Amino acid sequence: MVGSSKSQKAKVDKLLGGLLASGFDEHSCLSRYQSVLYRKSSSYLLSAYLMQRLRKYEEIHQKCSPSSELYNQTIDQLKAGAGKTSSAKCKYVVWISYSGLGNRILTLASTFLYALLTNRVLLVDRGVDMTDLFCEPFPRASWLLPLDFPLSRFTSFDIHSPNSFGNMLKNKVVINNNLSDDASHGSSPSFVYLHLAHDYSDHDKLFFCEDDHGPLEKIPWLFLRSDNYFVPSLFLIPGYQEELHQLFPKTDTVFHHLGRYLFHPTNKVWGLITRYYQAYLAQADERVGIQIRVFETKSGPFQHVLDQIFNCTMQHKLLPQVSKTENIITKLDKKTKAILLTSLSSGYSEMIRNMYLEHPAANGDVISVFQPSQEEHQQTEKQTHNMKAWAEMYLLSFTDVLVTSAWSTFGYVAQGLGGLKPWVLMKPENRTVPHPPCKLAMSMEPCFHAPPLYDCKAKVGADTGEMVPHVRHCEDMSWGLKLV
Ligand code: GDP
Repeated sequence: MVGSSKSQKAKVDKLLGGLLASGFDEHSCLSRYQSVLYRKSSSYLLSAYLMQRLRKYEEIHQKCSPSSELYNQTIDQLKAGAGKTSSAKCKYVVWISYSGLGNRILTLASTFLYALLTNRVLLVDRGVDMTDLFCEPFPRASWLLPLDFPLSRFTSFDIHSPNSFGNMLKNKVVINNNLSDDASHGSSPSFVYLHLAHDYSDHDKLFFCEDDHGPLEKIPWLFLRSDNYFVPSLFLIPGYQEELHQLFPKTDTVFHHLGRYLFHPTNKVWGLITRYYQAYLAQADERVGIQIRVFETKSGPFQHVLDQIFNCTMQHKLLPQVSKTENIITKLDKKTKAILLTSLSSGYSEMIRNMYLEHPAANGDVISVFQPSQEEHQQTEKQTHNMKAWAEMYLLSFTDVLVTSAWSTFGYVAQGLGGLKPWVLMKPENRTVPHPPCKLAMSMEPCFHAPPLYDCKAKVGADTGEMVPHVRHCEDMSWGLKLV
């Protein structure tokens, strides 16, 4: 993008058509208003109702923020352990930092949607690096859990915690004994832990069943730990369906809109993103993103993965074939294509770059290949490592065509932020190239990898991918669920 069109675009759509709130200090988070200069504008309808609900959420968030009197009152309740829950004016859901960065981004978006649906305030456990990665998304009040938050033991919640929703149901602990407003009639716990991680039990999964979920409504504090994009199962809860339909008349845009609303790289990460983009990607006629994630114990590179990348990209004409018979192909209107390849291993980009250096592209195009980092191993708790990962997901979202890897939340984040339906490289079995090597995704939504397969009404196992037309099984994981 060049000169005046850049500044015009910024003027016109700085708030992404009303998705973002005004009133932030722009310099404290440049990416919030500058991303529009790098990314294609969203072509997906943003409902007026979603904008209205976001503005309302921002008001509630401010009213109940950690610096408010109302917050102090609920903290007193939390310290007391149990209380008359209906009296709480502010209710919270605390997101616990857990798992890889892509997973964290997806669970945060899911938790925020749950907060919107239940009129709760989302507070975020800052973990080791959340403040280095993301700007504050809500105006006038922080989303971070204060450092002096009393319940330090919440970080050790797990599947065995007696305070988990699943274990309370299993052990028949009364979750809401506050059905009448008479204070003398018993009390309810001031908090419940929601264990929604991949290893959750059948009792934990009852969170997604309306009748079982009901008693949670009045509990002032919920603590939620997940490594899954659980939004598709929220669409199967009858009580939320009307509201969800109004928020997202086009169902397959949930992460796209919420992701663009919530996740803004800090200035440090934005520096990494913009310098890289300007140095390597800005000049190309077209940018092709290739995200390689190999779920193997060895780091690779693997020949079958390279073959799969070639099979997919050439079969679908995302990249040109090379000519092995000619040394030079002259063409007047040649296009320049920049490949942005992300991977823990450096091998794939080297091999693709070498191929296009040793042979000309058969259609005369000029192909360049760039890989921002080669970290070799996942290092979830290391700060600069996660900054690089975040910068790369964001850079991938600036591309025109995207190829992602099956099962990878890293790729889901890039496709959702970019508004891109990716070509998904299917997961190889026995180190051989799968057939077909890739599939065009049905939608840009992430896949929920561990959904309940249960009919809440009939109380029997059931295929939740067959219940409503807009919740389907994923192309990359047959038992997963995604919005289409
Ligand atoms: P997933 O495991 O693919 O679903 O994605 P996650 O983001 O949850 O976890 C993988 C983590 O490994 C990332 O957060 C990074 O820390 C690291 N990682 C994986 N692939 C890449 C990559 O291409 N580039 C960088 N910089 N890090 C990566």
